[in-house]
Amino acid sequence: MQEDNFKPLLMGYLDSELTELESIRVEQHLEQCAECARELEEFRRLKEVTRNMRVATPDARSWDEYWSHVYNRLERRVGWVLVSIGAILILSYGVYSLIAKFLLRSDFPLIVRFGAVAIVVGFCTLLISVLRERLFMSRIDKYERIKR
Ligand SMILES: [Zn+2]
Repeated sequence: MQEDNFKPLLMGYLDSELTELESIRVEQHLEQCAECARELEEFRRLKEVTRNMRVATPDARSWDEYWSHVYNRLERRVGWVLVSIGAILILSYGVYSLIAKFLLRSDFPLIVRFGAVAIVVGFCTLLISVLRERLFMSRIDKYERIKR
């Protein structure tokens, strides 16, 4: 039998919906064909996951809660991005004007000033990024502790 003839049978095989002859043929093919065997394994896992999901979320309300959770996470991520950008801009401006006041006089070449801006923005970005990671990590720690 051709390869393509087996794949549609895999789901039926998993659900025990095939005739005895078909089942035997599928089993014989599975012994020789790693690809179909892998596909069957994936179907089996998918079936397992969907069954577990049905057990875990038996009604529509759970789905609503699930989606509002996803939405909250998305919202929080957007919030973080905005806060980060704002903080980076303001910090960069502050640090740069300090540097400009004390170190950079107008007789410095343009490229040096560009360099200073790049360093300041880069530094502030790193700082905000580390701060965010710290906050995020401590939140995970708390969650882990509650779970245990
Ligand atoms: Zn195959």
